[in-house]
Amino acid sequence: MLDTLLHAFGAALDGLEVAYCAFDSADRTLAWNATFLEIFPEHDGKIHAGEPYAENLRRFYAGRLTEPERVHIGRYIEEGLARHRAQRRPYEFDHRDARVRVSSLEMGRFGRVRVWRRVARLATVQTHHVPSTQKLAELNATAVLERLVNGVLIVDLADRCMWANQAFLKLYGLRSAETAVGLSFEAIYRDAWQGQQGDGAFLQSMLALRENQRCSGAPFELALPGDRFVRVVEQRGEVDGRGYFEHSDITDQRRQQAALAEAERRYRLLAEFSSDLILSIEGRTIAYASPSLTELLGWTAADVVGRSVARFCHPQDFGLLVAPAAPPQCERMQADYRVRAKHKNGSYVWVEGRVRQLPGQADAHGARRIVNLRGIDARKAVEEKLERAQAELKALATTDALTGLANRRKLDEVFGLEFRRALREGMPLTVLVLDIDHFKRFNDVHGHQQGDNVLRSVGAVLQKFAERAGDLAVRLGGEEFVLVLPATEKARAVGLATKILEEVRAVAVGGAPGQVTASIGVATLYQSSPVESADALLELADRALYAAKHGGRNRFVEASTSSYEAAPRQVVAERGGGAG
Ligand code: GH3
Ligand code: MG
Ligand code: MG
Repeated sequence: MLDTLLHAFGAALDGLEVAYCAFDSADRTLAWNATFLEIFPEHDGKIHAGEPYAENLRRFYAGRLTEPERVHIGRYIEEGLARHRAQRRPYEFDHRDARVRVSSLEMGRFGRVRVWRRVARLATVQTHHVPSTQKLAELNATAVLERLVNGVLIVDLADRCMWANQAFLKLYGLRSAETAVGLSFEAIYRDAWQGQQGDGAFLQSMLALRENQRCSGAPFELALPGDRFVRVVEQRGEVDGRGYFEHSDITDQRRQQAALAEAERRYRLLAEFSSDLILSIEGRTIAYASPSLTELLGWTAADVVGRSVARFCHPQDFGLLVAPAAPPQCERMQADYRVRAKHKNGSYVWVEGRVRQLPGQADAHGARRIVNLRGIDARKAVEEKLERAQAELKALATTDALTGLANRRKLDEVFGLEFRRALREGMPLTVLVLDIDHFKRFNDVHGHQQGDNVLRSVGAVLQKFAERAGDLAVRLGGEEFVLVLPATEKARAVGLATKILEEVRAVAVGGAPGQVTASIGVATLYQSSPVESADALLELADRALYAAKHGGRNRFVEASTSSYEAAPRQVVAERGGGAG
């Protein structure tokens, strides 16, 4: 039954041109196929069921070994048997002008199957062909391997170190080749991490190593203490199954990669959080757009990436974005400009920006540019808002809240300027100080609320007479007001004071006028009769007001500015009444 199965199996493998030989658990030959005899014709007519594998090996080596080597044939057979029992991975060897790959499959209590397949003879395989240790000595090839910059490790079938060069020993911190011989690479690797085996990099590398042992062949990378890294490339395929590993130090390469990745990550982060729109343009195509794109222009990155810049800017401005910013010999080109960018809603938005051409790519069509853009409109709007807010704040600071007139602060700001301008331009300047008569009593009789209404009404009267550019109506505080009237001579001032007093008397309280009166002091500055300062002029008006009060209220007094000491001229309002 088993026989039939084994022969059918062999025939099937013939169809694939795979040679095959089965052995029982005592290494006796069970079955073989036609391809086997084709690749190994030395067995044709000699191999037979029940033949020990040792006889098979004897015929094999008899044909391969040179005359002086043949005395050692017993040892070759022994090694071959050991290999037969221990082989875990396929390997390659040359036989009668063919390259052969052999694999061995354990079948539990039944024994083992060996299969061979002819493979292409590759130049690289030849280059890395490593002869047996004996031959290495003969050829002095070890000297060559010693001089390699990369570490070289040669292992036997059981993956134990047979030989390693100085570079390998140095990489893994081994004192001499003797300390390494007989050790598995895993053990060598573990020792290299002595005392630091809790390190994440070590644990991760161990996983990579184990993985590689399961499905060998692919290059893999391992971490070493001190942030170093090695890349391991396996070159297996020796006549006696020895493995040849190259270990190259890739620490610098790794560090450079990490630095690049970090730079890239940081740049992305900057771009993602920048309120500026950042574009990367390759030739004429947008390769990257930062998220500010949506806020600024309404588009999403998906709308623009892979498309031409031309679609997103005003036709007249397109040239600016793609033209070389500087002569091609410049390493780093940079230019600032203003262009109209197309908003998703179809409108154009003015943006200002900076375009930089990345160095080393000076060609105008294939160039890679980084463009920073920011909206001028949005900035303008913010600036205007800020200006408005500042103006409002300033107005608030110089406005009297109850009457809406200017306050004392505003008077301080303006009066000095008007005073100097009047002197400079040779124009008169009138200042009028008004105080409501017996206002304390008015409050007592009518209440504070009614008093406030009167203050508003008197304020409105003064505002009405501040009719020309430069005129300023001020509530100084309490029930005291000031009217600054540039380019107003005495005659006009007198007329105005008279009208103001009239209108104050006309202020109705509870529907009835005639319950409020005020007194006014007037002072006019002329160049012919100079006053030393703005304060002095105000002081004159104030004294005239005092005189008006003293003279019986509900009147105005004109200060004489010819001399401070001169007695003020009193003008009594025509119609009496008043609160007094
Ligand atoms: P005179 O004719 O001499 O000016 O007498 P007067 O009572 O008007 O003068 P005084 O300076 O003694 O009193 C001013 C009063 O003005 C005191 C206060 O009750 C009143 N007053 C000041 N500020 C306000 C205000 O904001 N609202 C109201 N309702 N009254 C005010
Ligand atoms: Mg007062
Ligand atoms: Mg008063």
